[in-house]
Amino acid sequence: MQQMILASVVAFLASIAASDSGWGTMTAAQIDQFKQSLGETDVNKFDAALARARAAAAAEEIPESRPGVDEPIIVPKTKSNLAEDTISQINTKTGVAPHLYHGDMILTNKQIDVVMPASGAASRKKRQAQWPAELWAGRTVYYTFATGAAALSARAKQVALLGIDQWRKATCISFVQSATAKNRIRFFKGDGCYSNVGMTGGVQDLSLGDGCETIGHAAHELGHALGFWHTQSRWDRDTFLNVILARIPAQWRDQFSKETSATNHNYGVTYDYGSIMHYDGRELSSTNQYYALTKLAPTYQDNIGSYILSFNEIVMMNAHYGCPTKCTSGATCLNGGIRNPRACNQCLCPSGWAGTQCAARPAGCGAALTATAAAQTTTIAAGSASMGQTNAFAMCNYLIRAPAGKKVQIVLTTLTNNECVDGCYHGGIEIKAMSDHRYTGIRKCCAEDKGTAIVSQGNVVPIIAFSRLNRPTTTITYKWVEATVVSTVTTAKIAGTKITY
Ligand SMILES: [Zn+2]
Repeated sequence: MQQMILASVVAFLASIAASDSGWGTMTAAQIDQFKQSLGETDVNKFDAALARARAAAAAEEIPESRPGVDEPIIVPKTKSNLAEDTISQINTKTGVAPHLYHGDMILTNKQIDVVMPASGAASRKKRQAQWPAELWAGRTVYYTFATGAAALSARAKQVALLGIDQWRKATCISFVQSATAKNRIRFFKGDGCYSNVGMTGGVQDLSLGDGCETIGHAAHELGHALGFWHTQSRWDRDTFLNVILARIPAQWRDQFSKETSATNHNYGVTYDYGSIMHYDGRELSSTNQYYALTKLAPTYQDNIGSYILSFNEIVMMNAHYGCPTKCTSGATCLNGGIRNPRACNQCLCPSGWAGTQCAARPAGCGAALTATAAAQTTTIAAGSASMGQTNAFAMCNYLIRAPAGKKVQIVLTTLTNNECVDGCYHGGIEIKAMSDHRYTGIRKCCAEDKGTAIVSQGNVVPIIAFSRLNRPTTTITYKWVEATVVSTVTTAKIAGTKITY
């Protein structure tokens, strides 16, 4: 009986949500274009499933959050006025977000049945293969660019090509431009940023509209087209992220629903806050409060919302496409590296490492630094002061080594010329303080973070400066400390607690 009442309430709410889903300020022609880009997907079926999910999420009882008990107290940082719109912000403004799964994905009819089943259907689907199952055949992605009115802007095309290049270099997936291949991605300028998930068959649209012309947005949408969901919807998400639903407007809560272990396979690769497939912590908030908090907040809070492919998701994409089977023998990779499926006698290295075995500092700008017992001061920076907004990141690599058996203590004394944004997507500093260098290190890009003190886990700490705007500069002091010193991060942005990791 109770279930029947609940079902009728959900159906009622779904009908309200469906009639109220809206298209923002989109014209009839724009709505038509969007619907065309859904391809074979049954628009009404998709809209109904989305409305059902939205209503169910909105009707769910939300436990009250207890700041300081269930979550650390983080003072919201003051965002730079150069903050760019995130994907869900863009898609909410244009009006397409309510018509897409988790804000920016088109699902096929089959995917709708499995991922957003109508009541009762879920149990029948339980034993099906791991999703997303739609791999590009022969590990080859064909793509084309729309022409005429739907053509990408010059900048969107550049970032699309940069995004392709990043995924290509890091995996065994080939990308071939073709206007005739049966299955292909068609890059076009739609209203917002969105894509299918995996290869769906035929021509599938990937939109990079106004606001989506960044390397981060392009590589993110390509991640979907290759088969990735959002990192924050991983089935094991709650182990790594506190999502405070009470701070998310009811109509957007369904964007934070989790996949199940039947629809989301992560190949044993851990959650990484630096994933390019991760939304930032307050993008849909109307109050500037964080609603997605890393369990290692505030230390890793600025990592979420990144524009840079994380090494862990590179490993995952390689596993998804069976790339490791290409190398039955080859290089011995250190520091968490894996054999490069394009050249098995070389390695793909976590950021901060290079060389055939991932044992060297990447060539170019940066420095090799030796920690001593006395504190030394140095400057960590990338880019140039005269550099305007660029499509790709400039990077400089630093490597601090302490004697074996010691740890490294680093204090950020000043952060200047930084643009403070969630995800540090304009640039900043990344400190790999964990011993496992596969993880994205601690990223900082806000002047307010001066005074942050870090004690590493190991005796070698790569530091990466990165920038796509000007020259973010961080002054640090560093020295070695005894291994008995607890590995911690202390910042000014948390009330009365040290984070031990
Ligand atoms: Zn997305």
